[in-house]
Amino acid sequence: MNKIIVQKYGGSSVANIERIKKIAEKIVERAKEGDRVVVVVSAMGKTTDELVKMAGQIAPSPDERELDMLISTGEQVSIALLTMAIHSLGCKAISFTGMQAGIITNAVHTRARVTAVNHKKLKSALDKGIIVIVAGFQGIDANGDITTLGRGGSDTTAIALAAQLKADGCEIYTDVDGVFTADPRIVRTARRIPVISHDEMAEMANLGARVMHYRAIDLARNYKVKILVKSSFIPGEGTLIKEADPMLEKVIVRGVTQEINVGKIVVRGVPDVPGVAYKLFKALAEEEIVVDMIIQSAHHNEVNDIAFTVASNDFNKAIQITKQVANKISAKRVIFEPEVAKVSIVGAGIASDPAIAARMFGALAKQEINIDMISTSGIRISCLISASRIEDAVNAIHKEFNLNKAGEQK
Ligand code: ADP
Ligand code: ASP
Ligand code: MG
Repeated sequence: MNKIIVQKYGGSSVANIERIKKIAEKIVERAKEGDRVVVVVSAMGKTTDELVKMAGQIAPSPDERELDMLISTGEQVSIALLTMAIHSLGCKAISFTGMQAGIITNAVHTRARVTAVNHKKLKSALDKGIIVIVAGFQGIDANGDITTLGRGGSDTTAIALAAQLKADGCEIYTDVDGVFTADPRIVRTARRIPVISHDEMAEMANLGARVMHYRAIDLARNYKVKILVKSSFIPGEGTLIKEADPMLEKVIVRGVTQEINVGKIVVRGVPDVPGVAYKLFKALAEEEIVVDMIIQSAHHNEVNDIAFTVASNDFNKAIQITKQVANKISAKRVIFEPEVAKVSIVGAGIASDPAIAARMFGALAKQEINIDMISTSGIRISCLISASRIEDAVNAIHKEFNLNKAGEQK
């Protein structure tokens, strides 16, 4: 049987009719080489942003089922147009919504998880030599309701299909030639990373490198899917994301990332007794609020301070819940800072080398950037700083680790 190739084209790759026609030509060329091609597409350009904005003009926090009903429409437009463009080149193609492609998810609207892929219909079209075009970002839950997978989630659709179809290749086409040592829009000297492990890429994606959706990388790691990230506009070699090479013990800083949509909440004067942190974080977890960095300061006069960060879109809800819990546990007060940002470095083994953390803090100190919180895991170090200094911070750290120079990282 011929190879199965899954390709995904992001919003900028299908931003207008011209681009859709160009992509159609690329896909047809590939199919003519003999591959069975499944294509996942995003909504055209900034369509999803516009849909979200419209909903916001009607209600500050619209019903999430209806929001999914709305924001999933963008992808339906692009699959139909792309399929028509392929037809006009004389090739067979068919478009499928998430539901038609068998993307089954849980019922958590706006950030649903893929729980199964029933690819029978899709596979039978492929086996008949038909190019299959699938709407990214969307699925269907057990009630038959449309769900979406979280912003940037078309990547996850592509990986889920590649995993289930046991595809021979998974190619993600975007507006940059692969994964870079930092966001090329912020660091002009950022370089393409030729090969990166799933683990490192998962951290980078989780810490703000939006070139790949972090959930897509988790899936790829679980199913051992190799991903090639490339530009849909310019020819290049791109980045290969694959399993880590276990023989490589070298400590290396791969890249610097930034997250700006972060808010910090501090609970002052928390009684120093067992169970208070449990009460607070349980209440937040029950509302599905993901808490990121947590710091409990050393106690004084039988009270502690607990500080933590959440994503900006959970900020108001998190403050409300924290205030309720603070009342119950007799904490003194709750203060919050919406304008914070997180800068991180990612790389295998970096947290085990104390010199790396020292150099990162030194680079920030030289720029007179104050570090508010620090957190580390085996392969990352993150610092919370003021949002107004984030670009300076990313550039300074990128330079400190020589990430702009080939083969000279560290
Ligand atoms: P698509 O619509 O194709 O999914 P995205 O906008 O989601 O594209 O992702 C591509 C963008 O990710 C790039 O334009 C770039 O600005 C941003 N980006 C952030 N960090 C990185 C990084 N480390 N390497 C490459 N791109 C990055
Ligand atoms: N269109 C969706 C978004 O803008 C999904 C995606 O592009 O991956 O978030
Ligand atoms: Mg994306």
